[in-house]
Amino acid sequence: MPLIMPPAHPFDDDKLREECGIFGVVGVTDAANFVALGLHALQHRGQEAGGIVTYDPATGFNSARRMGYVRDNFTHSDVMQTLPGGIGIGHVRYSTAGNKGQTAIRDVQPFFGEFAMGGAAIAHNGNLTNAAALRRELIERGSIFQSSSDSECIIHLMARSMGRTIPDRMEEALRKAEGAFSIVAMTRSKLMGVRDPLGVRPLVLGKVGDGWALSSETCGLDIIGADYVREIEPGEMVVISSEKGVESHFPFRPQKPRFCIFEHVYFSRPDSILGGRSVYETREAIGRELAKEAPVDADLVCPVPDSGTPAAIGYSLQSGIPYAMGIIRNQYMGRTFIEPTEQIRNMGVRLKLNVNRALIRGKRVILVDDSVVRGTTSRKIKEMILDAGAAEVHFRIASPPTAWPCFYGVDTPQREKLLAATMSEDEMREHLGVDSLRFVSLDGLYRAVGQAKGRDPRSPAYCDACFSGDYPVAPSDMIEKGFKLLTPAQ
Ligand code: SF4
Repeated sequence: MPLIMPPAHPFDDDKLREECGIFGVVGVTDAANFVALGLHALQHRGQEAGGIVTYDPATGFNSARRMGYVRDNFTHSDVMQTLPGGIGIGHVRYSTAGNKGQTAIRDVQPFFGEFAMGGAAIAHNGNLTNAAALRRELIERGSIFQSSSDSECIIHLMARSMGRTIPDRMEEALRKAEGAFSIVAMTRSKLMGVRDPLGVRPLVLGKVGDGWALSSETCGLDIIGADYVREIEPGEMVVISSEKGVESHFPFRPQKPRFCIFEHVYFSRPDSILGGRSVYETREAIGRELAKEAPVDADLVCPVPDSGTPAAIGYSLQSGIPYAMGIIRNQYMGRTFIEPTEQIRNMGVRLKLNVNRALIRGKRVILVDDSVVRGTTSRKIKEMILDAGAAEVHFRIASPPTAWPCFYGVDTPQREKLLAATMSEDEMREHLGVDSLRFVSLDGLYRAVGQAKGRDPRSPAYCDACFSGDYPVAPSDMIEKGFKLLTPAQ
């Protein structure tokens, strides 16, 4: 039977999909090894494809882009030997724009451009909300696109810029871009890192020996033994070289930051640090908020593994109800798998999760999950728990109802497909067939991320558009297609 690479989440279309992970390093020997390790640590942010670009004075720019996991593609010497040099960047992706869910190799980053002053490669995490308009304009003016990715617009804008250096051209290009972007880029000798003015997507700086590293998350620094230095500020561009170290610029009009609050809930790894806070501790705090806001009499608190685990621990600690692993995850699912036939697909979530029957039988169970998107997986999990003999099933969700799509680099279904867009909380409970269903409130979530007074509706500290419909950047391409905003964006 043929073995094939499955799509990122072969049996789970019921999660918001992580966007992309980016990583870069300068001033080390064998940069490609560092980049491969960094990307491996960031694999949870995108599993469809990955790529690495390095520069070596003897061979020039070198690039390898592959479909599938980092560990399957960037560990063999036949690939790694083609990537010499002391500077390199890399990207792991799940497609969020362009060919959704069907990454073509031409869409795999980093992208490369040859300019009069030399070459540059870029890797982008996020989504440009005016990409369609930019692309149209660029094509009218003669640009020839190689991919369907919004990120390629940046290379074409750089090509058209009159800036004298590559960092100047990147600044000029990004001033035309709207939406969310964290970027790592490189020239022959410089590593660059940029965050959009709102700082929607993360990017951190680390020090590794005499060199420097940039990573989407701190877990990418940990794996290479780099010391965490700081976050790249919203609206900041850093240009890093072995000779001059880190030079910082602020090329954009300053705005109040609006970091993605969902990074705290789900996207980032629990061992990463975001905004000076441990992601694990934040998730545990969300669970505590949930227990305060939505208590229920029950025998066990069980996480939906793995992402519901810290919140379930928090719920248990706050409520005093014992924590138990009522659902066990098959750790090897989602890697290489036998061809997913229709029959296997119908087994659905059972392939990934199994109920710990001996523990569940006769018990009133609180199931803690990070989010409900379409509700399809939640229904199946509820059935499995009831089949195992649970007396009651209570869902507690560690995020508010996801009622709006994300346009900033996260793959969300169309609004009509989001359960919370069409149903009240009570209707959702009935639809899922559970004894009770409660979501943490937006204020509770803000308290858990350290905003003691909850969400300030006049000036929220985070992007929370997928819960509130309050978009910090107008999604202009989507508005052109007829998408209606609830409140005016900036
Ligand atoms: S809409 Fe949601 S997922 Fe998207 S950036 Fe904002 S908070 Fe994050």
